[in-house]
Amino acid sequence: MSFLRRKKREAEPPPPPMPEPEEVTAQEYAVRLAFVARSSDGLRLKADQAVARAIPGIVEPLSQTPIEVIEPLPLEYSDASPAIERFNEVQQWVLARRDVSPIGRHGLYVLEMTDALDMTVDTFFSGLLHGDTDTSGYPEYNAIVGGLASHWDELSGELIVRAVIGWGGKGLRGDTERIGQKLLASLYQQVVASGYSLGEAEQARLPAIGSRSGLTCAHCGFEAGSAAAFYCPKCGMRMVRGT
Ligand SMILES: [Zn+2]
Repeated sequence: MSFLRRKKREAEPPPPPMPEPEEVTAQEYAVRLAFVARSSDGLRLKADQAVARAIPGIVEPLSQTPIEVIEPLPLEYSDASPAIERFNEVQQWVLARRDVSPIGRHGLYVLEMTDALDMTVDTFFSGLLHGDTDTSGYPEYNAIVGGLASHWDELSGELIVRAVIGWGGKGLRGDTERIGQKLLASLYQQVVASGYSLGEAEQARLPAIGSRSGLTCAHCGFEAGSAAAFYCPKCGMRMVRGT
């Protein structure tokens, strides 16, 4: 029964309070991250898979590295996001993008975080367009990554191509903006000069994603944003309609 007696014993008196300090010394820790992306208007290209295969050759003259073709996300990873605090989404992203190069991964990070790319439908033709990488192969904050992004028009089946560029990280440099604008214009001109372009796309915006239209592509499983879609924006194949 000794523990009962011990419990009743009075608590020790608290130590006398410390004199309140006038000021607390503290070290500050901060990181300022900035990402910038640019996307051009869309250009219409012929509805032809062979034209899609020619796109890397259009980007190539403007890139310091070989062009990496980064396909839209497979259906099972369609929620993937590079936002680190979205744990399930980032896990999908890592799995879906494990074979992408450091340059392509940096490009995807910048362009997806800024919504310049929608990887549920976009195919991204990526390269290092300006600047250097660090010793692990990742682009420096003032390096410019980008190339072309494409998806298929839901109504005409034509390939819609946009020039996309992005940069950023732990810093920004004034001249990156100017060089970026020049590169974006060159990419766009390169598509026009390729001879594949049929003209400007009426709407540069991507098709509506995420709404439940019930119309699903029989080839890749993508669910179209609109029930009026004739072609899959992701793979370009004709939608098969139930009767
Ligand atoms: Zn499809």
